[in-house]
Amino acid sequence: MTCQRIEELLSAYLEGELAAAEKAEVDAHLGTCRECASLAGLLRETMGATAAFSEIEPSPALLSKLYAIPAGKREKKSLFRPIFDYLTRPALQPVYAALTGLFIVLSFVLFHPEGRGIRKQIDLRLHRGIGTVEKLYADAGAIKAEVGAFTGNMVKSFNSLGLLRGDEKKQ
Ligand SMILES: [Zn+2]
Repeated sequence: MTCQRIEELLSAYLEGELAAAEKAEVDAHLGTCRECASLAGLLRETMGATAAFSEIEPSPALLSKLYAIPAGKREKKSLFRPIFDYLTRPALQPVYAALTGLFIVLSFVLFHPEGRGIRKQIDLRLHRGIGTVEKLYADAGAIKAEVGAFTGNMVKSFNSLGLLRGDEKKQ
């Protein structure tokens, strides 16, 4: 397997989505190729950080600041009160947590010296998405060709059975 193929398969590999045979091939390659092995390690770390999103909580200091903001302004401008209430309601805390997590991963991807590899993976994902659409179109074309071939075979079979051109066959 080429390094390029490994890069394409890595995220599926780490998510345990590969078939046993493919997984074994990736395992074998990672055992011999340092570059791919380090990319796999990096990707695994990133995926771990992503998975931890829901566990990240805003710090108590940040929360108390968020709650403190509307208290002072409420009396002055009642116009903004619904907005402040909306922004500081507890239901939004997971959203702030997710944003914090996203920011951590983003800064990791942007500023980590090996972040290039991750950006490459993200590119790859996008390309794979586009690739899937392209593949669907290609499949549609292939099906059309198969149907065409099938029809051709049918005609041939009918011919040999003498069903379509019985007259010619008999001559
Ligand atoms: Zn490799």
